[in-house]
Amino acid sequence: MECEICGADGAGYIILVEGAKLNVCRDCSGAGKLLRAPAPPRAAAPARAARLELEVADGYGKLIADARKRMGLPLEVLAERINEKHSFLERVEHERTLPDEKLARKLEKELGIKLLQEVSSGAPVDVKDRQGAGMTLGDILEIQKGKKK
Ligand SMILES: [Zn+2]
Repeated sequence: MECEICGADGAGYIILVEGAKLNVCRDCSGAGKLLRAPAPPRAAAPARAARLELEVADGYGKLIADARKRMGLPLEVLAERINEKHSFLERVEHERTLPDEKLARKLEKELGIKLLQEVSSGAPVDVKDRQGAGMTLGDILEIQKGKKK
């Protein structure tokens, strides 16, 4: 978009001049009341301080089967307790099907085992480097939310 004041390319700013909204370039953005500045590139895809993903532990089938047997729970009973199909649970125990997070959580709770492990994905982001460097309010809120967890 062209700047409506000087005609330069790349008018990413919107300013208010005498009641009219104008798309202007950075140089002209001081000509009125700034309504919107272009979002910094990093704001488009907010990076979490550390993105964690959950992964089902290796040997989950055995973990489930062992815990279940330890508790003396027939597969059918366990299936009923967590509201899943017996045949589906059997496939999970034989590791022919990977349980999704929801099912894994139910099994963890029911059997008192740990099936999900956190793995970080992507490059870890150094929070210290980000502070003050083009951080948006959204970024700060995101970080504060993360801290409270
Ligand atoms: Zn301009």
